[in-house]
Amino acid sequence: MPQKVETESRKLLGRLRDAMAKDSAGQARLDEIVRLIATSMQTEVCSIYLFRDSETLELCATEGLQAEAVHQTRMRLGEGLVGRVARSKRTVNEADAPSAKGFRYMPETGEERFSSFCGVPVQRLGDVLGVLVVQSRDAREFSADEVYALEVVAMVIAEMTELGAFVGDGAALSARHQQPVMIKGTVGQEGAVAGNVYLHEPRVVVTNPISDDPEAETARLREAIDTLRISVDQMLDQTTTVDAEQVEVLQAYRMFANSRSWMRRMEADIDNGLSAEAAVEKEQSLARTRMNGSGDAYLRDRLHDLDDLSNRLLRILTGQGKDTGAEMPENPILVARNIGPGELLDYGKTLRAIVLEEGSVGSHAAIVARAWAIPLVIHAKGVLTEALNGDAILVDGEQGIVHLRPDDAVQTAFQDKIAMLTRAQERYASIRDLPATAKCGTTIALHMNAGLMADLPSLAGSGAEGVGLFRTELQFLIRNKMPQRAELSALYARVMDAAGGKRVAFRTLDIGSDKVLTYMKPNDEPNPAMGWRAIRVGLDKPGVLRMQLQALIRAANGRPLAVMFPFIAQLEEFRAARIEMDKAMARERVLEHPLPAKVEIGAMLETPSLAFAPEVFFEEVDFLSIGGNDLKQFFFAADRENERVRKRYDTLNVSFLTFLEQIITRCAASNTPLSFCGEDAGRPVEALCFAALGLRTLSMRPASIGPVKHLLRRSNLGEVKAVIDAARARGDQSVRGAVSDWLRDQNATG
Ligand code: PEP
Ligand code: MG
Repeated sequence: MPQKVETESRKLLGRLRDAMAKDSAGQARLDEIVRLIATSMQTEVCSIYLFRDSETLELCATEGLQAEAVHQTRMRLGEGLVGRVARSKRTVNEADAPSAKGFRYMPETGEERFSSFCGVPVQRLGDVLGVLVVQSRDAREFSADEVYALEVVAMVIAEMTELGAFVGDGAALSARHQQPVMIKGTVGQEGAVAGNVYLHEPRVVVTNPISDDPEAETARLREAIDTLRISVDQMLDQTTTVDAEQVEVLQAYRMFANSRSWMRRMEADIDNGLSAEAAVEKEQSLARTRMNGSGDAYLRDRLHDLDDLSNRLLRILTGQGKDTGAEMPENPILVARNIGPGELLDYGKTLRAIVLEEGSVGSHAAIVARAWAIPLVIHAKGVLTEALNGDAILVDGEQGIVHLRPDDAVQTAFQDKIAMLTRAQERYASIRDLPATAKCGTTIALHMNAGLMADLPSLAGSGAEGVGLFRTELQFLIRNKMPQRAELSALYARVMDAAGGKRVAFRTLDIGSDKVLTYMKPNDEPNPAMGWRAIRVGLDKPGVLRMQLQALIRAANGRPLAVMFPFIAQLEEFRAARIEMDKAMARERVLEHPLPAKVEIGAMLETPSLAFAPEVFFEEVDFLSIGGNDLKQFFFAADRENERVRKRYDTLNVSFLTFLEQIITRCAASNTPLSFCGEDAGRPVEALCFAALGLRTLSMRPASIGPVKHLLRRSNLGEVKAVIDAARARGDQSVRGAVSDWLRDQNATG
C-alpha cells in the first residue's frame, strides 16, 4: 500500500475525528463527513445512505448530488447499485455505472452527470447499517487503495452510528437501539412477561475507532496478540488428544493467532488511522461477510473460529470480559445466542424469561425454563444485534414474539394479555384440589417433573400427586465439582421431606448428550445423543451410580423409595442396573443402616428397542416411564434439538400413537405400572390423546397440571378415542386436526 494513501487516509480520519468532537447535531456531522471525504478523495460526489427500516435505505447526506434529494431518495434492499452493496455486503466499483447491472436512475438526485460509482457497506460485525458512496464524472474505476481507504472510513462511520453519533430528525437518523423492535421467534415455553434485558454475553463496545498514534496502537495490538497466543497454547495444553474436534478448533485458533497476513492486514488498518480495536473489528466484519456467503462448510467453520478468536482479542484489548459487571436489572430477561442447562442453572430462578437467538425446544435448557415456568422464545433472529443491557422487553411466549423497547400501544395490549393469562391461572387454581377425572369417569394421575430443590414448593401449589420424574443430573449440573455422597444423601432426604410422603421417582444420573459436566472429562463423540450417556456410563464406570444409589437408600432412611434408570435399551442393562441396586442394599444392610420400607425399581422407556423387550422384562421391572422426548427422537430419527427436523414430526402422528398404544397394551398385559414423563405429557391436547389411548399416569412440569386437568375434566375419553380411531382408519397422518375439530365442536356446544 503506497505511503501516500496511508497518510491521506490517516489525515482524513483525523479530520473526521475533529468533526465528531464538535458539539453538532447528527445531520451536521453527516454533512461534514461527506464533505471531508469528497475533498480528501477528490471526487465530485460523496453520499451516505442509512437504513430507515430493515428493507429501506435512505439518502441521509450528500456532497455533490442535489441537496433536495436528502431524506427523499430511498431504495429497497437490493434495488439499484446502493441496494446491491447493502444486500451483498460487498463493495461495488463501476467505471460506467449507468450501464452496470442493476443500476437505477434516481432523477431527483441529478446523478446522471456522474459516470463512476464506488459503494462500500457501512457495517459492524457483518451487520450492515448503510452504504458509503463516492461518484465521479470521469469513467474510471476507483483504485484498490482508494477502495481500501473508503472501507476504513466506512468502518469508522459504522462505529459512530452504533454509538449514536448521527442521531437527528428522520427515521433513518433515529438512534440505533432506541426504536421499538418486534422480533418473531418460535415458542419454547408459554407465558407472557415484561422485564429488562440482561445479556448473557454483552457485545464489546468500541468507543475509540480512530487513532493518530499508529506505533502505540500497533504495540497494543501485538501485546494483545501475545496474550491471546499464550491463552490458546494453555487451552491446547489442557486438552487431551482424545478431544479431536476441540483440538482441531484450538489448532485453527493457533494458526490464526500466528497468521502473518491477519496481523499485516490489521497493522495496515492501524497505519491508516484505525485504533487496534477498530482494526480487529474491520477484519472480523470482512470475515463474517465471507462466512455468511460461503458454501464451503470447512471454510465456514474456520471463519467461525477466526470470528471467535477476534472476539477474544477484542475482549483483551477493551478489557471488557464476559462478565462486564453489568448489574442484573429488575425483572431480568436473559438474552443469549444459546445456552446450556448448566450455564442457565447458574443464574438461578431470578430470571423472568429467556430469549435465544438460536436454541431448541427439545434441549435441556428449555426443560429447565419449563421447570421454572418462565417464558422461553427461541430462534429470535437479530435479538442479539438489537438488544442492549437494561432495554425494556416484553416476551410473549404464547406466540413466540419479543418486543424490544415497546411503545405505549404495545405495552397496553401486552398488559391485557397478561391479565387474560392471569384469569386462566385463577381458573386452574380453582380445580387444584379436584381429581383429573374425565367426563367418562376415568381418573388420570397427574404428577410433576422436578430436579431442583426450588421445584418442590410447586408440589403443593400445582396439585400434583407426586414427582413422576426427578432429574438428578440437574443437581450435578449446577455444581462445579462432583458432589459428595453425604451431600447428595442430605439433598435427596430434603426432597423426600418436602414431598411429605408423596411418591418421588428418582431417575439416576442421565449425563451425556447436551448435559455436560464441566468437571468430567468431555467425550469426543460424533453423536452424543446416541452415544455414551445415562445408564451406559453408569454401568461402564459404576462409581458415581453406586454412590448415588447409596445416597438414595440413606436418604429414604426407612421410607419407601422409587428409583428409575434412564436410557435402558435392553433387558440385560436393566438387570445389570438392578444388581447394582441389590448390591447397594446389601452393603447398607451389612452396615446396619435402615433400609427403605419398600423399593420400586423402574426404567425409562426412551429407546424403541425396549418396547420390544422380552416378556420377562415387563415382569421384572416394577414400573416403566415413557421418556417421550428421547423416544420420539429415536422413533422418527429426528434430533430433538434440531428445530428443522423436530417440528417435522407431530407427536400425534398416527404411527407414534400406535406405537405408544402397543406399549400400553404390553404393560397392561403384565400389570406393569406405566407413566409418560416427556414434555408432551404437559401439552393439553397431547395429554388428552395419551389418556384416551390408555395412559393413566402423566408427569409434567408443574405449570401444565392446571391446563391438562382442565381439559381432561371437560372431555369424555371414549369419544376422544373414537375420534383418534376414525382418523387412523381414514389414513390421516396426524390425529391433531381431527381432535382439534372435535374440541372446537365441544366448546361450541358446551
Ligand atoms: C425424555 O427423554 O422424555 C425424558 C424425560 O428425559 P430427558 O428429557 O431428561 O432426556
Ligand atoms: Mg430422556
